[in-house]
Amino acid sequence: MEVYLNIQQQENLFYFYHNWKAGKKNKIHKGHCPQCNFGTGKREKQTRGLNGVWIGPFSTLDLCNDYIADRINLPPVEPHKCCN
Ligand SMILES: [Zn+2]
Repeated sequence: MEVYLNIQQQENLFYFYHNWKAGKKNKIHKGHCPQCNFGTGKREKQTRGLNGVWIGPFSTLDLCNDYIADRINLPPVEPHKCCN
């Protein structure tokens, strides 16, 4: 079964990976990044929500940064290299 994500192929979307076990993994990713995979993570056996969760999509990097700054108590979050 496939799930329809309501996302256009050309949309440039941003997601925040909030990992509370490994702080250095707290990064912003683009939806197309293989690590992000539109907020579903890598294709491997995983227990979703055990170490972290994907938050998004956000239409802009600024909106994603605003969310983190306003609602999550974290030091500044770096974008993943996929965002360059
Ligand atoms: Zn990435």
